[in-house]
Amino acid sequence: MKSKPVGPIPEGYYALEGQLSIGGKTASEIAAAAGETPLFVYSRDLISARIRQLREALPDRIGVNYAIKANPFRPVLEHMRPLVDGFDIASSGELRLAQQAGIDPARISFAGPGKRDDELEAAIAAGVTLNCESSGEGERAMAIGGRLGVRPRIAIRVNPDFELKGSGMKMGGGAKPFGVDAEKVPDLARYLLDEGADWRGLHIFTGSQALNADAIIEAQSNVLKLADELAQAIGEPLPKLNMGGGFGIPYFPGDEPLDLASVGKALHERVEGLPASLQKAELCLELGRYLVGEAGVYLCRVIDRKDSHGVTYLVTDGGLHHQLAASGNFGTVVRRNYPIAVANRFDADAAEVVSVVGCLCTPLDRLADLAHLPRGDVGDLIAVFCAGAYGATASPSAFLGHGSAGEVLV
Ligand SMILES: *Cc1c(COP(=O)(O)O)cnc(C)c1O
Repeated sequence: MKSKPVGPIPEGYYALEGQLSIGGKTASEIAAAAGETPLFVYSRDLISARIRQLREALPDRIGVNYAIKANPFRPVLEHMRPLVDGFDIASSGELRLAQQAGIDPARISFAGPGKRDDELEAAIAAGVTLNCESSGEGERAMAIGGRLGVRPRIAIRVNPDFELKGSGMKMGGGAKPFGVDAEKVPDLARYLLDEGADWRGLHIFTGSQALNADAIIEAQSNVLKLADELAQAIGEPLPKLNMGGGFGIPYFPGDEPLDLASVGKALHERVEGLPASLQKAELCLELGRYLVGEAGVYLCRVIDRKDSHGVTYLVTDGGLHHQLAASGNFGTVVRRNYPIAVANRFDADAAEVVSVVGCLCTPLDRLADLAHLPRGDVGDLIAVFCAGAYGATASPSAFLGHGSAGEVLV
């Protein structure tokens, strides 16, 4: 049977006693210690290493924020607390998670359309920076601040007239529910300043999951240009500029890792030639999947092996209810295989072509389609890579009642 390619296994995974090892332990040991599969396993070392590489490539004055929606698992947040500069949240639920992880609200910014009054109130009272998404939201925030006797810390999220090219998810350019159209920003900023807001500058997010360094470099220079124009129109230097992120990770066959060195080099040049309006601004990037995506593996166990019309199926105890993206049902048009392995036979040669499916009673529940893998039997562990971001919390774990997966940080 002809196989279909699978995505590239991220760097940093190697075989120990023939098994996939994460954080110095074998997949079997990790599953046994957790006492359950399916299980998301996140690696401290790989998260730390990624942040270190990023720091080395970026100019010192560009801070790194973590967008916690990518992975809000508490031990992951606690691990990242000393490693990144800021945290971006998208709801009061994420605010609670960040606070439970001991993160100082002064380091948190809150973006997202449709912030409810109670969410604005919780954020303003805690001293979180609001990335304001509309003039209506700005007015509500100022009224709530007045009632609480607190000056809201507010930045404006800009809906720019350009986007990050080749981005997996476009979030800027044209009509959008996100941010304030660039031409409306100066008036809203003047209103917030006049009303006595603690002005925190601008947030310009242009897209996600870009692997092309040139596209990121171009978007970043457009962001700096727009920020300068807006600062001039507002009439004050910017205290802060969140430049967005968009750094992608390879998921699929043929995907090449982002050329971080090129992005870093271009940022060094930009930072040296900043316009006056931005010279005093605190600058940061906000990244989600780039920091944690490749540091996570989804482990599930084979519970049945069967043939149907010439196709061998490994039926696992996992599935799309935990790892929706790997099934191809999270914003992809054409389904392609994520990187996958038989975890307890990690260094074995590929020996057969199999489709790995989940336990849900729906044909959507595929983890790998006709992958060329070492033999997999009942009881074996399957590893699906790139599971550190948008896995556990971005999948419909209530669907079909199998329950949620375990999570561990090793
Ligand atoms: C989702 C999101 C991010 C993180 O995106 P990644 O692709 O995971 O890096 C950052 N900023 C904003 C505003 C977002 O909505």
